[in-house]
Amino acid sequence: MPLRKLYLELTSRCNLDCSMCYRGTWSDAEADMAPGLYDSIKAQALGSPEPGTVVLGGIGEPSVSPLFADALESFGRRRLVVTSNGIGYGDGLVEAVARRADLFMVSIDGLEDTYRRVRGAALGEATATIVGVLEARRRAGIAGSNVGVQFVLSRDNAAEAEGVVELAASLRARLVVVSHILPQTPLQDASAMYGRVAPDDARRLFAALRSRAMRLGIALELPRLEPNTERRCAFIEDDAAVVTADGRVAPCYRLAHAYPEYVLGRRKDVLAHSFGDAATASLASIWAGRAYESFRRAIYANRYPSCIDCDLVDGCDLCRDTSSDCHSGQPSCADCPWSRGFTLCP
Ligand code: SF4
Ligand code: SF4
Ligand code: SF4
Repeated sequence: MPLRKLYLELTSRCNLDCSMCYRGTWSDAEADMAPGLYDSIKAQALGSPEPGTVVLGGIGEPSVSPLFADALESFGRRRLVVTSNGIGYGDGLVEAVARRADLFMVSIDGLEDTYRRVRGAALGEATATIVGVLEARRRAGIAGSNVGVQFVLSRDNAAEAEGVVELAASLRARLVVVSHILPQTPLQDASAMYGRVAPDDARRLFAALRSRAMRLGIALELPRLEPNTERRCAFIEDDAAVVTADGRVAPCYRLAHAYPEYVLGRRKDVLAHSFGDAATASLASIWAGRAYESFRRAIYANRYPSCIDCDLVDGCDLCRDTSSDCHSGQPSCADCPWSRGFTLCP
């Protein structure tokens, strides 16, 4: 299979400093994608039928990149997904997102006070961008909503989840994606609403969210509340790759940058893993590289260990970071919250 979905991290800078963002704990330097690298990736992407989907996102805010406006226009025939905080959009960007983005996912993690506490910005700025985008679509005669809302759930904002679903519906968003917080500290780990056994209050919350979304007629995606046998990596199944702002080609968001991660009370150091450098090699050759191909095959076939339910986890050194696992897999996906369905992203 060729590379079918390309996540482009135009920048790892951001105009916000959210309390739960893993940019706060990572060890990478902030970077903007070099224009030459961007042009080369764009030419490669447009030179073949695949990738059919381009995601402008990554760990940073794409709209602060000087390349953002061009990227919105250049990938028009591909399915274009933008993940953003929705803050700081001028009229030109609002119009371009309205016309070009098939899906514009805006992060909203709470109502007024909570949003300000988490994001340090006014909720009204993000909602004004959404309203502007949908109004511009109406003016341009484009049918349907292209807006989604992403909600990062923890015990700190759970009480406002239903309110955010209502807000999203009132803004005419077409879906809400709820993801658990990706814990990077013991405190965040304690605030996560999943567990070895699904917490009762989280079950009740999800039941309420489902019925609220159904009544409002808005699509809702919810994460899992407890580990189960099936593991599924959406990055691998979508034949996706992430190109970071400095050109490294990572298999997914989790392995794109280095940061600490807490897995049900246990610390793990996630190490950035790259299968090649897009500044010096073509995406196709990196994608076809033997190590990358065999990694994808192993994850797709679910042939990798699981530390969460391993008897040796308390004494095993291999589960302390993602460099390798006990099946000689490199990097290790053995504790991944994405494949467990705890972390969701578009
Ligand atoms: S908007 Fe996103 S990338 Fe920026 S600080 Fe907040 S969570 Fe991090
Ligand atoms: S790396 Fe292997 S042996 Fe070690 S905890 Fe994970 S599953 Fe168990
Ligand atoms: S299983 Fe997790 S760590 Fe492995 S490729 Fe998928 S998202 Fe990345």
